[in-house]
Amino acid sequence: MPFLIPKPVLADIISHALIADPEECCGVLIGDENGADEAKRIKNTHPEPIRRYEMDPVALARAESEADAKGLKIVAIYHSHTHSQAYPSKTDVNNAVQSWWTEPYYVLISLVEKTRPIVRAFKISDNHQVTETPITTDGDQYVETTRS
Ligand SMILES: [Zn+2]
Repeated sequence: MPFLIPKPVLADIISHALIADPEECCGVLIGDENGADEAKRIKNTHPEPIRRYEMDPVALARAESEADAKGLKIVAIYHSHTHSQAYPSKTDVNNAVQSWWTEPYYVLISLVEKTRPIVRAFKISDNHQVTETPITTDGDQYVETTRS
């Protein structure tokens, strides 16, 4: 089952990555079991934002309670790689495991080529396993094609 990121949400996170460049951007996608509904941009508070990201804990808590109020949850954590591929780094994997955030998807935006951003989604398991999930931008289309 692919992970649904509707086009406006996809446009939003790509735009966030480009605007934040050369720093890494980060944020969360809130939604439900059907996919993402909305991106919440979160300030990157890492002291070296050009190489790493750390989500501002206050903004993260706010995004979580806003999701909660709508009956939604955090379905993905996204961040950009300005000079490397859209694949979780060793640090990303360690951070995911250590922070206990292994339920949501990890969405990576690569800006190796600024005019051709690449977006990929992964699950990171408690035992440091990285598995890619395809992204779809159209939930209805997916349902149609799987029905036929
Ligand atoms: Zn990373």
